Amino acid sequence: LTERLESAFKNLKGEARINDLNIANTVKDIRRALIDADVNYKIAKEFTDRVKDKAVGSKVINAISPGQLMVKIVKDELVELMGGEEAEFNTTGNPAVVLIAGLQGSGKTTFSGKLASYLKNQKGKSPLLVAADIYRPAAIDQLMVLGEQIGVDVYSERENKDAVSIAQNAIKEAKSKNKNIVIIDTAGRLAIDEAMMAEVANVKEAVKPNEILFVVDSMTGQDAVNTAKAFNERLDFTGVVLTKLDGDTRGGAALSIKYTVQKPIKFVSSGEKLDTLDVFYPERMAQRILGMGDITTLVEKAQAQFDEEQAKKLEKKIRKNQFDFQDFLDQLQQIKKMGNIKDLMGMIPGMGKAIKDVDISDDAFKGVEAIINSMTPYERANPDSITPGRRNRIAKGAGKQLADVNAFMKQFEQMRQMMKMMNKMPMGKMPGMRK
Ligand code: GDP
Ligand code: MG
Repeated sequence: LTERLESAFKNLKGEARINDLNIANTVKDIRRALIDADVNYKIAKEFTDRVKDKAVGSKVINAISPGQLMVKIVKDELVELMGGEEAEFNTTGNPAVVLIAGLQGSGKTTFSGKLASYLKNQKGKSPLLVAADIYRPAAIDQLMVLGEQIGVDVYSERENKDAVSIAQNAIKEAKSKNKNIVIIDTAGRLAIDEAMMAEVANVKEAVKPNEILFVVDSMTGQDAVNTAKAFNERLDFTGVVLTKLDGDTRGGAALSIKYTVQKPIKFVSSGEKLDTLDVFYPERMAQRILGMGDITTLVEKAQAQFDEEQAKKLEKKIRKNQFDFQDFLDQLQQIKKMGNIKDLMGMIPGMGKAIKDVDISDDAFKGVEAIINSMTPYERANPDSITPGRRNRIAKGAGKQLADVNAFMKQFEQMRQMMKMMNKMPMGKMPGMRK
């Protein structure tokens, strides 16, 4: 795949701007590369058509080659298609109910154990595992062993051959034992089968789960799409769990499934160890589909170029003393996308040094975000317009105390003063500013 993409982008090297001809060739190569990564043909075609439209419309900005721009567009599209932001996992209710469904061998039981172990370590969560695989006594044993390993209780009824009543009894048990999350591990078949679907659908009807997770083996490639479709039509599941990503699968299944059923991929499983439950990161998966090595570097370079353009714009605003709340919020969101608040802050000219030794958690900024979000667009663009009366309203809207808003205003003002001072310095001496 990497080689394919590499040659696709080589075609674009040296071209000054994107034109219809070089796009057509590149798109053809990208499509072939996606199909190689197990992406369904129809999906690969639709996907590349979309990329083509975007590429034609976009101008090549300074210092970025058409090839880099195409890589960036492909990657952005992949990320967007696979969910953009992380998906929520709903555990409200007492008990909350999570139903696990999928084919036999897909990794349901292993994932149930991982999920239980993960939840057990969360504050205020106390899970109960339920063995609702009524066909194989060994399946009950497997879950019991897992439960013991992770220290989570397992509910089972060896003589009961009705998955619905097992699930219902388990919920009663959870209530009486103060367990607030019930994870129901169901039976799977080797192929899609009406009896199995009906059984899981009946359990769903009876227990009204918060989450229905469809577990699928990422190594099954094209088949995974058909399986996902069949389960979704019957169960209308809330999310996908992609397992066995530790194998050499190229991840095409993730793209195809997301595209076909339009449901978020909520977790990925990459290994048999029970203490490794991973949240799904579209960025990482896009990287994987695009391949490693040179392409990754290309993508990163393209990203860096874009960030630089943005930084330049911001720099201009700072120079003119026009840095406002919206800019602040944009920067916050940018940082959050990168996953690390500290890195983000470091990008704000002058801030890098100031925060080097400070411990900043993502949560620290939630309040700030809420405050800016409850400002009107006018207020965001005109920090000086925020009178005491407005501060009251903003505090209420953000669910914060007036004192919090005041404190943030003060901080923001200090930041602006610092920027102003920097602007008065001779150009070469500005900390964090280039050129
Ligand atoms: P179930 O039939 O859907 O309950 O699937 P199991 O949880 O029993 O898993 C089937 C097999 O796949 C077992 O041998 C597991 O150890 C293995 N397995 C499950 N998840 C993963 C994973 O993420 N990576 C790898 N390498 N193996 C896995
Ligand atoms: Mg099982």
